[in-house]
Amino acid sequence: MVDLKSQYQKIKPEVDKAIEEVINSAAFINGPIVKEFQANLEKYLDVKHVIPCGNGTDALQVSLMALDLQPGDEVITTTFTFIATAEVIALLQLTPVLVDVDPDTFNISIEEIKNAITSKTKAIIPVHLFGQTADMEAIMQIAEENNIFVVEDNCQAIGSDFTFSNGKKQKSGTIGHIGCTSFFPSKNLGCFGDGGAIFTNDDSLAQKMRGIVNHGMFVRYYHDMVGVNSRLDSIQAAVLNIKLKNLDSYIEARQSAAKYYNSAFANHPRIKTPIIAKNTTHVFHQYTLVIEDMNREELIKFMNDRGIPVMIYYPVPLHQQKAYIDPRYKDGDFPVSEFLSKNVISLPMHTELDDEQLKHITSSLLEFLNQN
Ligand SMILES: *Cc1c(COP(=O)(O)O)cnc(C)c1O
Repeated sequence: MVDLKSQYQKIKPEVDKAIEEVINSAAFINGPIVKEFQANLEKYLDVKHVIPCGNGTDALQVSLMALDLQPGDEVITTTFTFIATAEVIALLQLTPVLVDVDPDTFNISIEEIKNAITSKTKAIIPVHLFGQTADMEAIMQIAEENNIFVVEDNCQAIGSDFTFSNGKKQKSGTIGHIGCTSFFPSKNLGCFGDGGAIFTNDDSLAQKMRGIVNHGMFVRYYHDMVGVNSRLDSIQAAVLNIKLKNLDSYIEARQSAAKYYNSAFANHPRIKTPIIAKNTTHVFHQYTLVIEDMNREELIKFMNDRGIPVMIYYPVPLHQQKAYIDPRYKDGDFPVSEFLSKNVISLPMHTELDDEQLKHITSSLLEFLNQN
């Protein structure tokens, strides 16, 4: 699905040198390189504060901790996503309120958010799924009208541009009160281990979250609140600093692979290629197709036999996950998400796909659909 080895080969001398410098400095934690990466990312995103942390899930947890929510407060998020959002909501004893997604973009449905708001709603976590930004203009308007926080799960969409109706552009993750990202190796901006970051333009939230990631400590050994230990280490920051310079070209490589896929599948009666909303760019963390009436298991086996990995993101919506079964929800409550979980497939998507590989992948898929 990804080819991190070839990507590394292209930046190897620079990366190896940067890692060696960290080792020689022995400043493994909170070294100057972490600050440097933080500043570079603030500049790239045009956001006031980046707070590095241990991973994307921590970023989400720390964000919610900073909002002073109380057990029982409701947090709205989508049911068609990776588990991390619901997980941190549950860990903090908040009440997840799940909503369905838009059938075209797979992002959280604005109508369903409106229907889900109650007097207990305190936050919305839109997930910018697969690489395009959810409708942040509509979401911020709902949030303002109802006095609730917005925490963007930007783990899959770093670098995506959102355009407001007045023409103003902003990077995904910098529009809500807080944004979160992950630097997991396979993410669009990935390091060589675990890593994450939190973004905000709010000075006091930034100050608070810097304390929370550091054991709730604002003055050394004085702990003003319950925090966590969540850090980005210097070696990861060194790698990210180099990869950040390449992020826009990595995005272009992903977009050009997506373009190849799109034209190969264009007008095919059974394949629905990705639909991009008008107000966002798509950075293609995943390239995901909807194919009705396919035998998905057979298709995966057929592709795997030809050396092509195919993944299902995501096979089970959150409300049907064993650990999150909730009497408030039953099968059929989220028809779009349930349909998608049964009918999506994701093809290999990374920065190193060449035309030969793309041709092999697309012709194999078309061959399978012709036979089945
Ligand atoms: C990867 C991911 C996360 C979690 O990031 P980690 O760094 O693995 O903790 C959260 N949300 C989404 C949508 C993700 O894709």
